[in-house]
Amino acid sequence: MENYQTLLAAVTPTEGHADEVSATAPAVATREVFDPATGASIGLAPVHTTADLDAAVERAVAAQPAWAARSDDERRATLHRVADAIEAAAEPLAELLSREQGKPLNGPNARFEVQACANWLRATAETPLPTEVVVDDGETYAELHYRPVGVVGVISPWNWPMMIAIWQIGPALRMGNTVVAKPSEYTTLSGLALIAVMNQELPDGVLGVVAGAGDLGAALVARPEFGKIMFTGSTATGRRIIESSAGNLTRLTLELGGNDAGIVLPDVDPAAIAEGLFWGAFINTGQTCAAMKRLYVHDSVYDEVCEALRTVAAQMPMGVGLDERNVLGPLQNRMQFDVVDRLVETAKAGGARVLLGGEPDRAAVGNFYPTTLVADIDPHDPLVQEEQFGPALPIIRYTDLDEAIALANEVEVGLGASVWSADRDRAREVAVRLEAGTVWINSHGGVHPMIPFGGVKQSGYGLEFGVEGLKSVSVPQVLNG
Ligand code: NDP
Repeated sequence: MENYQTLLAAVTPTEGHADEVSATAPAVATREVFDPATGASIGLAPVHTTADLDAAVERAVAAQPAWAARSDDERRATLHRVADAIEAAAEPLAELLSREQGKPLNGPNARFEVQACANWLRATAETPLPTEVVVDDGETYAELHYRPVGVVGVISPWNWPMMIAIWQIGPALRMGNTVVAKPSEYTTLSGLALIAVMNQELPDGVLGVVAGAGDLGAALVARPEFGKIMFTGSTATGRRIIESSAGNLTRLTLELGGNDAGIVLPDVDPAAIAEGLFWGAFINTGQTCAAMKRLYVHDSVYDEVCEALRTVAAQMPMGVGLDERNVLGPLQNRMQFDVVDRLVETAKAGGARVLLGGEPDRAAVGNFYPTTLVADIDPHDPLVQEEQFGPALPIIRYTDLDEAIALANEVEVGLGASVWSADRDRAREVAVRLEAGTVWINSHGGVHPMIPFGGVKQSGYGLEFGVEGLKSVSVPQVLNG
């Protein structure tokens, strides 16, 4: 895919041409996709039907035994070639991602996301998964092996539409599974384009994709052929997935977002942590599952931290993603703009103090919500209690650390959290009291391909990344004797 136009053409069904991506019947329906920053038309996305889903599942089932029969080394080498193909198409992929998702090319955004896809595939290929000898005492000998689960369904979200898909597709393929992916209807072209590039290096049928307009997710989950479904999205949809997969006892990994707290202890240097706090909260313009969504700051440093954060935040340019200067973009969709707008307006009405932003141009074409900091907010305000998933951070003042920890733990979700302190040991004492799958110290939200990642409480279950991630797309088999 030498440029943006060829990449787009590869995923756009045109009259008389079969839909090359799913290699199912020609897509009869299409829908227009619009740039969330400018409202401009980007292109046409196919609208696959449940018949297309049936065909994609059949192809994945048929391709799986031969893919699993390849050696681990062969599959690992293939993943490296897929990573090469992504790197070769990196700039067109980043441009499409920027236009459709809205995220800027620069900063920790579109180019970063595409490169992360290649890096993640390589790390997945290089993760060792040795056979475990679980008992060898002279009388009993038992080994634990991990075998493919079969066909894996991947339902991915619109915030990091390429990287999150790779997090799930990469390990699934490594372990000898085939995959049927379903990108979000908000970022269909990005999902299709990534998979088109990957399919340059993968055997037929190993990685299929279907893209609908609101009815395929439930149909996919109900199919008995899937050994595993991996879903990233809202808790409400996660619950529906549990219900519709129950009949087949399908294994699930559910990454259902969060409402991550950051706790700033009194001993910090506000200027030194301000940029880390900013990106912890505002990466991808706040549309990140493990972004910091509530910040608790001790009264003794509250005003200084607010001011340092305001200074950093005010300097970060927001605008159209293709403009190389910008590092923050629009919200991907109007639904999310409205969520952020409602929560900030409620906070204002409740007496909270807006330090920055908070006045969107609702009549503008793009879904731009300005970078917003809300101070002196009630800890039980909806902007604190609900997931805003956008660029509006509530900053809560505390005096008693035990109370701050209790407030951090009182929400129903528990994906990530962070503690900020000059004293690492003190921070670790606080960290272990937080109910979250990951607690970062003096940073927030960084992920690593070798470090397990997953939520607790209503943030879902199942671990991704590293050896735990490989095991989660496998079924264990004990050889005893
Ligand atoms: P959802 O979490 O509701 O997920 C939508 C996806 O789930 C679509 O692909 C949809 O497919 C599929 N789906 C819907 N119903 C079912 C079902 N019964 N069975 C299987 N799949 C189903 O995301 P939204 O985009 O609507 O976002 C809602 C909220 O989720 C956001 O406001 C945000 O707070 C949160 N979110 C969290 C993310 C995270 O990273 N954890 C990412 C994105 C959003 P189909 O349309 O074909 O049914």
